[in-house]
Amino acid sequence: MISLKSDGPVDFDTAASHICEAGRLLDAKGMAPASSGNYSMRLNDGAFAVTVSGNHKGRLHIQDVMRVDAEGKALEEKKPSAETLLHTQIYKHYPDANAILHVHSTAGVVLTRLMHGDIMLAGYEMLKAFPGVETHAVKVRLRAVDNTQDMPALANTLEEFIADLPVPAYIIRDHGFYVWGKDMEACFNMCEAVDHMLTAEVEILKIKGVPKKGLWK
Ligand SMILES: [Zn+2]
Repeated sequence: MISLKSDGPVDFDTAASHICEAGRLLDAKGMAPASSGNYSMRLNDGAFAVTVSGNHKGRLHIQDVMRVDAEGKALEEKKPSAETLLHTQIYKHYPDANAILHVHSTAGVVLTRLMHGDIMLAGYEMLKAFPGVETHAVKVRLRAVDNTQDMPALANTLEEFIADLPVPAYIIRDHGFYVWGKDMEACFNMCEAVDHMLTAEVEILKIKGVPKKGLWK
């Protein structure tokens, strides 16, 4: 087990090892089904390390991680994840973000299939995983956008509000969520926290049923 902590942008080998380890841990928690998800880190030479397209994230090796530039363009002869553009967009808007995880959370898919608006997370102790949140007694909006295979179009939609998000995360309907942090450790913790709260929301709906008026209106 390696530490996922780091101080600012890192070298490629460190980034690749943190990305591979995050994949193993997320897979063990059911957050990397099939070859889904993509992960990245900011490098200390201005480039970014990102997972290559297609490979299973629970069984990543250093060769499954590659370098891209700030526009998401490949800096080596490999094909980056299809959603690399969404990673570079986050790094552009959040200079303190050094790690990003995107996971196909089952709970996130279930919830976004049951509602149309954003997801409201209120009263959870786990909200304190987000930077700046000091108490459970808050209501946090997890912004939701429609899924599409058109990454530039999705990035355009996100561009309208990504700089003003209340927490470093958003969710794509029927798909999964993005979360980012100062290092892979912080990012991973928030990833677990978001999945925990979304799972709790699903469990509550199983007991209480989906309200006729809809959710979080
Ligand atoms: Zn995805």
